[in-house]
Amino acid sequence: MANTFQALMVEKTDDGQKTSFKDISTDDLMDGDVEVAVSHSTVNYKDGLALTGKAPVVRVWPMIPGIDFAGTVESSSHGGFKPGDEVVLNGFGVGETHFGGYAKKARVKGDWLVKKPASLSAAQTMAIGTAGYTAMLSVIALEKAGVVPNDGPIVVTGASGGVGSVSIALLAKLGYEVIASTGRTEEESYLKSLGAKEIIDRGELSGDPRPLGKERWAGAIDSVGSKTLANVLASTRYGGAVAACGLAQGMDLPASVAPFILRGVSLLGIDSVMAPLPKRQEAWDRLAADLDLAKLGAMASTISLADVPQAAEQIMAGQVRGRLVVEV
Ligand code: NDP
Repeated sequence: MANTFQALMVEKTDDGQKTSFKDISTDDLMDGDVEVAVSHSTVNYKDGLALTGKAPVVRVWPMIPGIDFAGTVESSSHGGFKPGDEVVLNGFGVGETHFGGYAKKARVKGDWLVKKPASLSAAQTMAIGTAGYTAMLSVIALEKAGVVPNDGPIVVTGASGGVGSVSIALLAKLGYEVIASTGRTEEESYLKSLGAKEIIDRGELSGDPRPLGKERWAGAIDSVGSKTLANVLASTRYGGAVAACGLAQGMDLPASVAPFILRGVSLLGIDSVMAPLPKRQEAWDRLAADLDLAKLGAMASTISLADVPQAAEQIMAGQVRGRLVVEV
């Protein structure tokens, strides 16, 4: 049929879930006031969870996953958007409860969209993706907590991953000294090319935490959670701040209150999914201004929609370096 297009869908089955490519039409899309021709999407950790079923990310079945997309508005009854506008979407439940970015077309609420920054291509916005936009939210949170480059180094955990890679590039450009914590020490030259000054083995941070350790850093961006976050807090200098955005090691936090009540350390929670529009706009404006595009290019690889199921397995296995852009 002329007006059908390919979509990557997950369906619930008796023994779990199944991923397959389907031909669908715009009649099959969910409700919304803006229709977008999707040019690019991406694979984040959360997309990996959705596609493999390793965590209950998908809550409406069947689902087109893909928590991000970039594209061009085709039709709109929303006052903020008109045909031809270039837009970016991150989160808001897209790819979880509302059909997402792994299809050539999407119909969503205009209230969820941001205008694509003029200085970034659609592919670059997806090289950034939710991972990079979360990295920016984390950097802004550290700045708002008063952490400045002269205070001392910032540790970035999960350094070779998406949030980690973009965080390193942003912090380095802003003049912070970055310590990269990684399980892939063979990626030292990659991490240093993004701007990390020092590389530490993530094993230093992933073991049983003590309430307090040596004061090593003024701040942190942690995409790992669990014991790693507890150890990061225990080694944060007096008055420092830690932005917690991820759970690659686990969702638990086996920490003590010692860093908070003895060193005045702040724990900053970062959520990208439901962040209000002004916060998103600020993050995207800052990404357009503060992210070195050559470094973004170096951390991004491009794949096709057909490669997405395999990429989901790889990101779950911690085998993806940097960011994946999906050409839809
Ligand atoms: P990636 O898979 O790209 O990066 C995660 C990195 O964490 C890996 O590359 C690896 O880095 C490290 N890692 C993986 N497994 C473990 C482990 N068992 N113990 C310690 N470190 C580990 O994912 P993303 O960058 O896309 O996302 C990172 C995290 O942030 C995820 O948990 C994701 O859910 C969360 N997130 C949260 C958001 C929010 O709104 N709060 C938004 C976006 C992401 P290395 O090999 O260098 O050690």
